[in-house]
Amino acid sequence: MVHGGRPPAEPGASVNPPVWMTSTYRQGGGRTYGRDGNPTWEAFEEVLGELEGGSCVLFASGMAATASVLESLPVPARVIVAGDAYNGTRRFLADVAGRGRLLFRTVDVADTEAVLDVCAEVADSPGGPGGAGREAGPGLGSRGLLWLESPTNPLLAIADLQVLCRGAHDLGMDVAVDNTFATPLLQRPLDLGADIVVHSATKTISGHSDVVLGAVVTRREDVLAALATRRSLHGAIAGPWEAWLGLRGMRTLAVRLDRSQQSAGELAVRLAGHPGVGQVLYPGLPDHPGHELARRQMAGFGSMIAFEVAGAGSRESAIDAAEHVVGAVRLLTPATSLGGVESLLERRGRWEREGHLPPGLIRLSVGIEDVEDIWSDLDQALRTVSP
Ligand SMILES: *Cc1c(COP(=O)(O)O)cnc(C)c1O
Repeated sequence: MVHGGRPPAEPGASVNPPVWMTSTYRQGGGRTYGRDGNPTWEAFEEVLGELEGGSCVLFASGMAATASVLESLPVPARVIVAGDAYNGTRRFLADVAGRGRLLFRTVDVADTEAVLDVCAEVADSPGGPGGAGREAGPGLGSRGLLWLESPTNPLLAIADLQVLCRGAHDLGMDVAVDNTFATPLLQRPLDLGADIVVHSATKTISGHSDVVLGAVVTRREDVLAALATRRSLHGAIAGPWEAWLGLRGMRTLAVRLDRSQQSAGELAVRLAGHPGVGQVLYPGLPDHPGHELARRQMAGFGSMIAFEVAGAGSRESAIDAAEHVVGAVRLLTPATSLGGVESLLERRGRWEREGHLPPGLIRLSVGIEDVEDIWSDLDQALRTVSP
């Protein structure tokens, strides 16, 4: 993380890689055109690839990475997806399904047996991946793709990655895991059997809310080639400057995550004991349904928390109370996104396709501020609703 992607250690060499601002390369060498390759991307890819234990392809955004994986599937693709996956992922699937190019089923990733039952149904369905009338080719998702997220955004459900990967593989399916919330420092899905790891590197990886980036990591040569092709053909490439900022952010991932995760653990306990707070979702709390699994599967519980304001009866009053708290913070920033050095919070249900969430659920991304400063701000904001 600290030493990868740097120029060769020669006397007088630059310690950091330069930002390669060029759209083309003099002919005769390995590189040809700026949409097909850039040395600053490669520096980023070297580091994230090594952290996840595979080869990385950098994209313009998390959604570009997601779209490139899903657009690599045969048509009509069969996808089984976490029902509370990132809303952009679900919007993308609905959009492509609406144009007849894909069929998808949603599942509760915390219910291992139910997920594998749906996988088996899809594999056996007529015209399904393993069913009649369809040749199972060698490519990605030729027998279906299971798209997992763990912890999920924003309900923080935990999927049993190892068991689900094994079960899906037994059915001939491939598995992708969106590892944005955990980062490779807390969980390495390729080691647990996944074929593909997807990141919104906009979030904790880059860590400073100053850049939009995405990435895919895989150990499979066929998938790597397909994704590099998608990137060139769709043109969803990162700018060299964004790649450089992402790499610069990644250098401090460990210390940022240590700090924000430690604060998140403390804040989750305090929120759970606060009279103004109802339900608190954080995998590190012993009463979280995925707590024991997260303890085994992850090296830490992360820096994301979701909670509700106490005692809001109706849907409207729950929304009002949550919006009131979000509007009353002074140090924290009311904004979407996550994983930056500054704490962010929002009522997640304000977005399209988040109707399945408790309407007053507040998602909190814990930053690296002093934990007492974060707490006193949250506490004063909560007291404006129920003093
Ligand atoms: C933000 C996010 C994405 C989308 O990434 P962008 O960089 O915004 O395109 C995908 N998955 C998760 C879990 C996210 O939080």
